[in-house]
Order: sequence, then C-alpha cells, then structure tokens
Amino acid sequence: MGTIILGSGISGISAGYHLKKTGEDVIIYEKDNDWGGLCAYFSIDGFRFDKFVHFTFSDDEYINKIFEESSPTYAHPSVSSNYYKGYWLKHPAQDNIAPLPVEEKVKIVKGFINRASKTVEEIENYEEWLRVQYGDYFAEKFPMVYTKKYWGLEAKYLETKWVGNRMHSPDIEDVLRGSYETQNKNFYYTSNMKYPQKGGFRSILNKCREGLDIRFNKEVVQIDTISKTVTFKDGTSANYTRLISSLPLPEIVKMVKNCPVEVQNCANNLHNTCGYMVSLGFNNPDVPKYLWFYIYDEEIIASRVYSPSRESLDNVPNGCSSLQAEIFFDCKAEIPSKEEVMQNTICKLVSMNLFKEDEILVKDIRFEKYANITFDKDIYKNRKVVLDYLQSQNIESIGRFGRWEYYWTHQAFKSGMDCAK
Ligand SMILES: Cc1cc2nc3c(=O)[nH]c(=O)nc-3n(C[C@H](O)[C@H](O)[C@H](O)COP(=O)(O)OP(=O)(O)OC[C@H]3O[C@@H](n4cnc5c(N)ncnc54)[C@H](O)[C@@H]3O)c2cc1C
Repeated sequence: MGTIILGSGISGISAGYHLKKTGEDVIIYEKDNDWGGLCAYFSIDGFRFDKFVHFTFSDDEYINKIFEESSPTYAHPSVSSNYYKGYWLKHPAQDNIAPLPVEEKVKIVKGFINRASKTVEEIENYEEWLRVQYGDYFAEKFPMVYTKKYWGLEAKYLETKWVGNRMHSPDIEDVLRGSYETQNKNFYYTSNMKYPQKGGFRSILNKCREGLDIRFNKEVVQIDTISKTVTFKDGTSANYTRLISSLPLPEIVKMVKNCPVEVQNCANNLHNTCGYMVSLGFNNPDVPKYLWFYIYDEEIIASRVYSPSRESLDNVPNGCSSLQAEIFFDCKAEIPSKEEVMQNTICKLVSMNLFKEDEILVKDIRFEKYANITFDKDIYKNRKVVLDYLQSQNIESIGRFGRWEYYWTHQAFKSGMDCAK
C-alpha cells in the first residue's frame, strides 16, 4: 500500500515526480496505453501530432528549468493570424484591421468609439464584456462568433473571471493605427512561445517521467473510500493509503461508491468543451504560412489551426509539413460525425487556398472528450460542491479537470507539485 495517483497527464506526472523525490512509494494508474494525457502525441507515417496546439510560456523559474532540462526548446515569437471572410488580419484582429474594406473599418472604429462604459461590477456576462471592450460591431462579428465556435456556447452564457490577460483590450490609438497599417507591436500575453526541439510537446516532461511506476491500460471504474480500494475495468484492484486524482470531476463522481445524488447532479451540470483534431501531413514543406491562426467564419467548422512542422521540423519527415485543425463543441451538444467534420475541414481549408487536396499524404481525425472547462454562470457553485465532497472522502484532486480550472500546462504541473508538497 502506498500513494496512488490517477492519470498520467502533466499534473499526475508532476505529483509522482515530487512525491518520489521525498522517498514516497507511488504508483500512477493510466487508462490509456501511453503517458502524457493532453500533452501526449500520436505519430502516423513519420508525422507527429500533439493533442491540440501546445506551447509553454511559464514565468516560473523552477518549472522552466525542469522543462528545459527535459528537452531544449525553440522560442517562437508569438505572432499569429486571423482569417475573416477571405482577409488575413494579424493577431489580435482588433488592433490590425487595416486589410479590411473601408466600410467595415468605419463600422468597427465607430462601434469602438461608441462602446458602452460599464464598471466590472456592472458587467453581467461575457457578451457584455466583449461589447464594452470592443464595441458592438466588432464584438458581434469577431469574438462573439468565435466564442460560439471555441466554447460551444453563446457569449451571454459565460461569465468573465477567466478572461484575465488572455484577451487584449485595445485603446483608441491602437485601433486607429491598426486601421491604417498592420502593426509590428506584440499585443500577446507573452512575447514568445516555447516548443521542444525534439520529441513533441510531451518531452518537456521527460525528466519527471523517468523512473516513475506508471501502469497503463488501467481505467479506474470504482473507488471505495472506506476500504481505500480502486477497481479497474480489467477487474483488478489496488489499495491505497493516499489517493490523488487528476480525473475529470464529472467522471470521478460516477466512480466513488455511494456518492450522493446532489453531488453527482452538480458534477453533471458542469460544462466543458470536447473536440476533434483534424491532422494533415503534406508532401510539400511550404504549406503552413503561420505557426497558428484563428478562423472567424461560421461556415468553417474549425476554430483554430496550427502547424506542428513550424513548431519543430522534428515533427515531420524531410521535405514535408503539417497542420492540425481544432474543432470544439459544448459537451452537452449534439456532436457531428467524424466524416462530416473531416469533410468540412478539408474542403474549407482548401477553399482558403492553404493547400491542394493532392498535397495531402496523411489525414487523421480523433476526438477528445475533455478539452477546456467552461466558465458558465454556475461553475463556481457546482465545482465547490464536488470538490468539497471529494475532500471529505480524502481524495486529493489535481490538474485541469481535477480542479476544474482553466490551467495551462505549467499551472497543471504546479497543482501536482503543490499537492505533493
Ligand atoms: C485545445 C487546447 C490547447 C491547449 N494549449 C495549451 C498551450 O498552448 N500551453 C499550455 O501550457 N497548455 C495548453 N493547454 C492546457 C493543457 O493541455 C492542460 O493544462 C494540461 O495538459 C492538463 O493536464 P492534466 O494532467 O491536468 O490533465 P490530463 O492531461 O487530461 O490528464 C488526465 C489523465 O487522466 C487519465 N484518465 C482519465 N480518466 C481515467 C480513468 N478512468 N482511469 C485512469 N486514467 C484516467 C487520462 O487519460 C489522462 O492521461 C491546452 C489545452 C487544450 C484542450
């Protein structure tokens, strides 16, 4: 008997690494046949794809040191683009509207000047926040459409505490200047994004993973907190003295024996996005023009596209390149089939002149049930009920879906580390 960690994503690996350093006996159980969770990758015919776009941009010295010692990184400037009705606008779009037709620019600038002024306390939801930040016209054409694509819900159903520095709030000088010329200034929340030179994103964890006892193909199906037993889908079980879980809250409540109905209801009312990755490998090195870009058009199902080959050429065979498109939905929505999503994505990306269909060497589509947690209006209330219950059962919850927090990788890493401490 010793400590059991559920899940070998970055938070589970971090908890395992830090506990092992203190001499504790730790076993990690993972349902998949490999480690890394959302930081993991898959390979097809020499093309490596991460699960969705991943860069690291931590400002924590200790965490950066571990990541860098695991794998040297490239620092890519945080320059990305936006596709809107046939126009390419440097990111962030609100500060770089120069390429748009004059009529559209006038409406954006006018909307910005006439935007309502409200205090933070007066703003009731994300739609209002967007209107106050950007003015009605830009809000309706850009971020409100994107919100539906990326979060799967209308902006009016989201709250605003999560926004923080994730979105740039422009001033009039930037909006005006950007309507005449595309600006060199970086408005992004970090000046560069780091990506491992070799081995895909997951290799930032190589050092921590070394020597950890991870048992694969061990899907937890039941947790008995009285007898301190975890049971797996294959019929085996294990006892623990301490239990740390990075499993998503809506999943773990189904596993804990005798979990009260009201706790289960709160967990079921949590929202998250799920998503498809459409991964494409090309026989031509010059396909990707941008490291990543956002797509605002509603009829294009993909919301963001990035290039694994621009992240690192180690991700593709010689003379090739690659793209991966991300397509998200609310977890409670009806999800279109793989065929529909693949067809819409390839057809629309071809119509955007990104590549020709006969340049495709590899195409793949796969689905992740948990991508982002969603900040709907009831998140805090529901999350608290579930976390309080898990704590009462001595289950220590970590990571993005265990804490139900909008964690970047370094924050998920820190949550595993803090739990171990
Ligand atoms: C679209 C997208 C883009 C992102 N981009 C970035 C970025 O650029 N930079 C950044 O820093 N972060 C990014 N992130 C966030 C980052 O991926 C997460 O913060 C981090 O990977 C979460 O790690 P975790 O360990 O908390 O969860 P996970 O990686 O989900 O780990 C949980 C583990 O538990 C396992 N598991 C689940 N159920 C069971 C079960 N029943 N039994 C056993 N095991 C189970 C899973 O298989 C998984 O391995 C992005 C996330 C998404 C979705």
